[in-house]
Amino acid sequence: MRVTGSFLFHNARVHTEDGSFERGWVLVEGGRIARIGRGVPPPESAVESTDLQGQALLPGLVDLHAHGALGHDTMDATPEALREMARFYARHGVTGFLATTMSSPPLPILAALRNVAEVMHAPTRGAALLGAHVEGPHLDVERRGCQDPAHMRPADPDEYRRWFETGAVALLTLAPEVPGSQEMIRYAVEHSAVVAAGHTRASYEQMCRAVKLGLTQVTHLFNAMDPLHHRQPGAVGAALSLDALSCQLIADNVHIHPAVLKLAVRAKGVERIILITDAMAGAGMPDGQYSLGGLAVTVRQGVARTADGALAGSTLTLERGLANIIAATGLSLQQALPMATLNPARALGLDARKGSIAVGKDADLIVVDAELNVVLTMVTGEVIHRL
Ligand SMILES: [Zn+2]
Repeated sequence: MRVTGSFLFHNARVHTEDGSFERGWVLVEGGRIARIGRGVPPPESAVESTDLQGQALLPGLVDLHAHGALGHDTMDATPEALREMARFYARHGVTGFLATTMSSPPLPILAALRNVAEVMHAPTRGAALLGAHVEGPHLDVERRGCQDPAHMRPADPDEYRRWFETGAVALLTLAPEVPGSQEMIRYAVEHSAVVAAGHTRASYEQMCRAVKLGLTQVTHLFNAMDPLHHRQPGAVGAALSLDALSCQLIADNVHIHPAVLKLAVRAKGVERIILITDAMAGAGMPDGQYSLGGLAVTVRQGVARTADGALAGSTLTLERGLANIIAATGLSLQQALPMATLNPARALGLDARKGSIAVGKDADLIVVDAELNVVLTMVTGEVIHRL
């Protein structure tokens, strides 16, 4: 029986949650994965069919930490900015992302979140906008990185309640030692948001207390926190040793040395690593001057820094992050894949719908060549990008 709008990928190396196999096929119907099989697909199958000639069919990538791309930034607070970002990320294999804010005065953050809430419910013709990641302003000035210290402040319930009223907040990054953050963790968890520690000088003990309150993630592990000290484990020691914590990594080989990427994956296990880009407006653009949440940033040879030399987000794309972590760890594509797919989907509580190739899940699928270049991206059954 032919179904209108159905789509068949065949002769693919299909990467499912349980393993990968050659000469597989996946039938997409109504935006979802309808059937998966091996060998020659049933003849009746689909309206549109693509022979992948042995290329790999993967679940779409999910990026929990993306500020901007192509000269646009989440803090622009315009639908156009988010749609351009969504299209750019989709070309690099991302089928779902969180638009990430920066430390700013209350009104610009609220405007950015309202904009995210609006665009979440409209088609993007790109990666699905899954919500907002509010990074700051409740951060530690001493570990500000590229965030503007002038806008850092204690957590104020009157402010963050308004964030949650937008319905956009999926993930919050805060420093657990900042006044008011304990109440904020409780509030966020009650309102189904994920809470991450970042831009922090928290002690190991402060991290443990935050975990008891519901902290489950660490934002760009190693960056914007004290290095590991064997007598003062701090945020890094807590991140690497506490099973309750998953760790975001920027695998661009600039923010973290490949040897430390390997160390982090060994310490946490693949299932507790989440690859992110931390991409800013310079992603997909030539070297030059850009703004990151209102802060002037120079991109030189693809590396983004503020005037005082702090790394200021990245120009990384997530499929390159995946390739880099495979190179750093020696893991296979199949083994490394959850770090950019299932783990971030699970962190958001979306793994019943997203994050792997399984019957009934959203048809968020990508085709990659042997070098992990993305040749096709499908978002909920719609081909968004094809080389
Ligand atoms: Zn950051």
